[in-house]
Amino acid sequence: MTAMVDLVIKNGLVVDGSGNPAFRGDVAIEGDTLTEVGTVTARARRTLDAGGMVVSPGFIDIHTHADMGIMACPEAPNYVMQGVTTAVTGNCGLTLAPCSEAHLAELEQYLKPFLPSTMPAFTWRSFGDFIAVMETARPAINLVPMVGHGTLRIAVAGFENRLCTKDELESMGRLLDESLYDGCHGLSTGLFYPPGSYSDLAELEALFPVLEKHDAFYSSHLRSEGRYLEESVREAIALGEKYGVSVQLSHHKASPQPNWGKVEKTLALIREARSRGVEVRCDVYPYDGSSTTVTALLPPEALEGGVPGLLARIADPDQRKALVGQIANPQGGDDSFIRDVGWDNIYIVSCPNGNEIEGKSLSSVVGPLPVENQAERFLDWLLSVEGEALMVARAMSEADVERVLLDPDSIVASDSWVSDPAAPGKCHPRAYGTFPRLIGHYAREKGLLPLEKAVRKITGLPAAKIGLHDRGLIAPGMKADLALFDPERFLDGATYADPKRYPSGLNAVVINGKIVVEEGKNSGVRPGNVIRKSTR
Ligand SMILES: [Zn+2]
Repeated sequence: MTAMVDLVIKNGLVVDGSGNPAFRGDVAIEGDTLTEVGTVTARARRTLDAGGMVVSPGFIDIHTHADMGIMACPEAPNYVMQGVTTAVTGNCGLTLAPCSEAHLAELEQYLKPFLPSTMPAFTWRSFGDFIAVMETARPAINLVPMVGHGTLRIAVAGFENRLCTKDELESMGRLLDESLYDGCHGLSTGLFYPPGSYSDLAELEALFPVLEKHDAFYSSHLRSEGRYLEESVREAIALGEKYGVSVQLSHHKASPQPNWGKVEKTLALIREARSRGVEVRCDVYPYDGSSTTVTALLPPEALEGGVPGLLARIADPDQRKALVGQIANPQGGDDSFIRDVGWDNIYIVSCPNGNEIEGKSLSSVVGPLPVENQAERFLDWLLSVEGEALMVARAMSEADVERVLLDPDSIVASDSWVSDPAAPGKCHPRAYGTFPRLIGHYAREKGLLPLEKAVRKITGLPAAKIGLHDRGLIAPGMKADLALFDPERFLDGATYADPKRYPSGLNAVVINGKIVVEEGKNSGVRPGNVIRKSTR
């Protein structure tokens, strides 16, 4: 007697996530698990015909901020409609937990530009509490949480621009340890952003033994993606090497223009480190524009005291004068970003307190004036919108994007938020287009890499990097997370001008054995889980 299973997907072109050549075959699913691959003998309660379609593992997005908004929009439609089934959350050093009573208001205010207006109040304190809240929201996709170093620092020292005391470092270490016991898979840093930028190497060194103890990984938005890119890469690699911790370099790039081409050197540094046995990789989003809060245009010390500190500084004549000087005549570090990119290449994508600027560049704010006057106008505007706006800056070279994308060790990730197409505001097109853009634009249209290698960069590779041993491949015993797409049509539709457009050519998505998208339609079913790191 042949066995009976829940679902069989028949006649697909199986691209299994390993990078090996595609093959024709069927896939059987029982519960949330793949039971047979290739020739399926079991009878099925349901059958999907995948004729003409690629059947690949569901995409794993190793760099997201999906924790910012999954509670308000648990359907995560922008991820699901790209074929993403798992998202690593909590990157760039900023997470919603853990929180301390003393500094909760500062954290909430700083995160505000990133969070949807319908976001529930911060009722949690520990990371374990926060995971429980995410679980209660019943997300459509699987979430792999990381804890942010910036958030740990805010919990113990707020937005004070100074080194942490020994006691504070111990408290941060304790909070990190608890968060990893609660199920976080690693620590992220945003060393470019305050308050991460206020920390030194010794602070990170105080936390690495905790990562080592938990076999947790480290992902870093580096201190510099421009002038000090190479030094920043070396710092992250050295930490991983010293403590035997797996390192992920986030959204790898060299920007703005005077730094273009530096990724050639940094990719070589990664390759050399890997050959010495250091587990280090980078990820990249397939676009030439970056996106973050507009306050990142200012020197980090301007954010001392968080957003309220910044607004008070702009309102104070003396401090404002100093800021105008720094913008008009940048002195060092990466402070020359505005000058090197230009006001007309920096677009505001969302601005709840002044949405008439959404979709326009900062040129429309500062006008064709001498640079001091432009800086004045920029600060006036920032004050008027209470520092709450997200921008897109077109500051990278396409040649660099391709260089990083084509590196055999790189992973492709979106660096995006959960986005509701019906909600106000625009966003970066990567939120809707990253994965179909890799497969449709770079692999198929430009012919830069074979389909199997492109799929591996968003399935098998990220799964291995995170240590998700039961996802990212199509094989018996793996979890049933699948994406079905038309290899001739799968393509991103999102653009900078019109970012909230779903891709074409997605046929079906299966998450934990449940069909979420069928014949291109999202049913709104939410079978995702928060995947806790199993403690040893
Ligand atoms: Zn980042």
